Parts: sequence; C-alpha cells; structure tokens
Amino acid sequence: MTMLKVAHCSGCGQVYQKNIRNLCQDCCRSLDDELDRCESYLRRNRRATTEQLREATGVPVKKITAFLKENRLHLASYPNLTYPCNSCQAPIRQHHLCCSCRVRIISDLHILKEQESKKASRPSAFQIRNAAYR
Ligand SMILES: [Zn+2]
Ligand SMILES: [Zn+2]
Repeated sequence: MTMLKVAHCSGCGQVYQKNIRNLCQDCCRSLDDELDRCESYLRRNRRATTEQLREATGVPVKKITAFLKENRLHLASYPNLTYPCNSCQAPIRQHHLCCSCRVRIISDLHILKEQESKKASRPSAFQIRNAAYR
C-alpha cells in the first residue's frame, strides 16, 4: 500500500496531496495567475515600482516580494521594483535587510560579543576579591 502524502497548504491551510510547491492545486493556479498579471503589467511598464505594480494588479506586496526572492520576477529587468527590508520595511533590491539594518545588526552582534566576554571575565574578578578576604 502506498501512503498518500498530505500536508496543509501554505497558502490557504487546507489539506492537499503534497507536492514540491507546498501549495494546493487552487493556490498554485491563483499564484500562477497572479504572476501572469504581474508579468504582463511589467511588460508594458518596465519602470513600475512595487507600489504601482500592486495597485495595477491587486497582487499583495508580500507575494510580489516572494516572486522577486524566488527569482520568478527578475529584479534586474525592472529598475524600480523593490521589496521591503525584513527589519524596517525600507525598500531594498538586494539581501534581506537594508544597509542601515545590516550595519545595526553587525554592531549589535559586536556589542553582544563584548558583553559575553565581560561576563566571562567577571567570575575571575570575583574570585580574586574573595581570595583577598581570606
Ligand atoms: Zn491552498
Ligand atoms: Zn532595514
């Protein structure tokens, strides 16, 4: 007996027969339809922004972002398309974070590391003080 692999669709949540796209038939079809709408709008308006694309096609920014990140819409061909930074929502065209968020996160990591190393050195200072009392 072969087990039928089922899962919850990541688009609408209903149970469906598992496939590589993690989407049920309905969601696959509507996603393809949305991608089609985006592509045909962009063919006529190569310099459109994400906001203009959303207004013209009714496709939510989240899905446009997914198309861009999955390379189903090619950022390189459309000079004004952007997607929001994961942290502050600023419009970006590469990576998952904008420049200032990347700088901030790197410096946060740096501070965190410094705190860690201070924490690590604290017990030995305490031991020295303790030893002086004896
Ligand atoms: Zn679905
Ligand atoms: Zn940001």
